Amino acid sequence: MPSEPAYPPEEQPRYKLRWLLTMPRTDPPIARDCMTARLPWPTRLARQIAPHTRLQDCCWPHGIDWRQASAAAFAIARQVNREHITDEDELAERAFDLIRAVGLPEQQQEAVETLLSHADGITLDHLAGDRWRLSCMNGRKRTHAMLEVGVHRTVVIRWRAPRR
Ligand SMILES: [Zn+2]
Repeated sequence: MPSEPAYPPEEQPRYKLRWLLTMPRTDPPIARDCMTARLPWPTRLARQIAPHTRLQDCCWPHGIDWRQASAAAFAIARQVNREHITDEDELAERAFDLIRAVGLPEQQQEAVETLLSHADGITLDHLAGDRWRLSCMNGRKRTHAMLEVGVHRTVVIRWRAPRR
């Protein structure tokens, strides 16, 4: 009989490509004046069809062109996923090299970095006791801002046990 490891293998970050419309709700409301507006389904859909392009100077997430940042992060995540890099540090290094190669303005580059950083990325996971529904563990403000401007697809981080 093969011996079982004493502890489950350590989880590793993976980039997952995701349609914004399938993101978990960002409730409870975000405690920030510019983000208290709820985004019910009809609003989410309307913004997908007629995206907003306005940038606001009220806060960092509202000052980012998320359609550009998300598109760049999406392309990089897809490329890195195709390369089947399993080592966590190697994965981050490769992603950050690719980000720099895009040559975005500083604030936009920073936004792409937050999406592809294992520590800062929009992280989806199951809350304890909720096996079926995913929750937004990190990145609610960015998700909210993306939904407002009508971003179609983005990158999220999922932590999973390594593939065998
Ligand atoms: Zn704001």
